Amino acid sequence: MDFSLTTEQTALQESARRFARETMAAVARELEDNDRPLPLAWRKRYAEMGFLGVNAPEAYGGLGLGNLEALLVVEEFARVSPAVAFPIFEACVGPVKAIERFAGEPLKRRVLPAVCRGEIQVSVAMSEPEAGTGLTDLTTRGRLDGERIVVSGRKRWTSGAGHAEGYVVYCRMSDQPGAKGIGAVYVERDRPGLAFGAPERLMGFRGIPSADLLLDDVAVPRENLIVPAGGFRHLMDAFDLERCGNATMSLGIAQAALEDVLAYVQERRQFGKPIVEFQAVQVKLAEMAMRVEAARLLTWRAAVNASQGLPSALEASLAKCYANEIAREVAGTALQLMGGYGYSKAYRMEQRLRDAWGWGIAGGTIDIQKINIAAGLVGRRFDQRR
Ligand SMILES: Cc1cc2nc3c(=O)[nH]c(=O)nc-3n(C[C@H](O)[C@H](O)[C@H](O)COP(=O)(O)OP(=O)(O)OC[C@H]3O[C@@H](n4cnc5c(N)ncnc54)[C@H](O)[C@@H]3O)c2cc1C
Repeated sequence: MDFSLTTEQTALQESARRFARETMAAVARELEDNDRPLPLAWRKRYAEMGFLGVNAPEAYGGLGLGNLEALLVVEEFARVSPAVAFPIFEACVGPVKAIERFAGEPLKRRVLPAVCRGEIQVSVAMSEPEAGTGLTDLTTRGRLDGERIVVSGRKRWTSGAGHAEGYVVYCRMSDQPGAKGIGAVYVERDRPGLAFGAPERLMGFRGIPSADLLLDDVAVPRENLIVPAGGFRHLMDAFDLERCGNATMSLGIAQAALEDVLAYVQERRQFGKPIVEFQAVQVKLAEMAMRVEAARLLTWRAAVNASQGLPSALEASLAKCYANEIAREVAGTALQLMGGYGYSKAYRMEQRLRDAWGWGIAGGTIDIQKINIAAGLVGRRFDQRR
């Protein structure tokens, strides 16, 4: 067991860190202020630097590296802001991976190289008004009609909605109830019949647009099938990598909060000395650091154990759940340690707290991860319906 990064991994991490800090910080502030997604020109720039295909196979235009390398890059951008990290998250650990793993060759050839070139961003549309945690209650239909699949239904909370060029839409593709009837289809943004609801106004996630997808008999070619009915398990396997990405977004937020507050407490003086000299402050700093390091180890373990494949559900849930919890806590403590300045929008800490809260809901809530963890521990699934 070796906990150090290789020379190549460190070089990739450093180049992502340099670019994210030096170039993206001002852009991130603009996205946050105006609640606008990252413009296409920046996505193209990411592509030129290889950030959108870190762990995609070389045959599809990627760098052919592993999941850990992808997460290293996501963390560096998440430290600046989840909004500037989001396109990398979507490309490297998001729904694109379901296409890479399970779709037929023609769809892969159409989507994967375009994602690596920054031309296409793909979002995932799973949740519905009546199907959140109980996702297998979803009712969106995907009907096979000769050489076409016709999709109808309403999706909720899709991050990237309206901005992303493509959507992995979970839908019911047979009359079998629950998970057995669920498959997934790739739907392009410009297909007739696809519309978007009003932009959501969220507590955080500014710069990551969110809206409903309204699918009214949207026809796509049969080759847009990613997994047929019965493939829900596969979708969840690919989603375990997205959970590690979600953990990494939380980790990036927590790491940045810790770094900023470390600088602040050494500068801020009260009672005639820097507040870092008070033991109550020192204890908080130590507790924050312990949590950040533990979250990183859990996340890296899940990624490394999966190598270039997909992480285990147990390890991914442990990482996501823990990182989600500590990001809220660390950002909250950092805000408190900055006093009134932490609460001010002029500093970045209040944004971190708002963003941190969202990652513990997106991708499956903290509590449902705990149920997954307990299931993994005892080696069985707990039916939430009986
Ligand atoms: C910022 C953000 C981004 C998102 N992005 C996307 C996206 O890109 N694509 C997408 O499809 N969806 C997305 N979502 C939706 C997200 O996946 C759901 O919000 C989440 O799964 C919870 O569903 P819900 O909101 O319907 O809550 P509910 O399922 O109604 O849950 C409400 C509460 O009840 C608890 N609960 C429910 N069932 C159980 C149970 N069996 N045991 C214990 N507790 C339970 C939950 O933990 C939660 O605290 C996003 C959400 C947010 C906030």
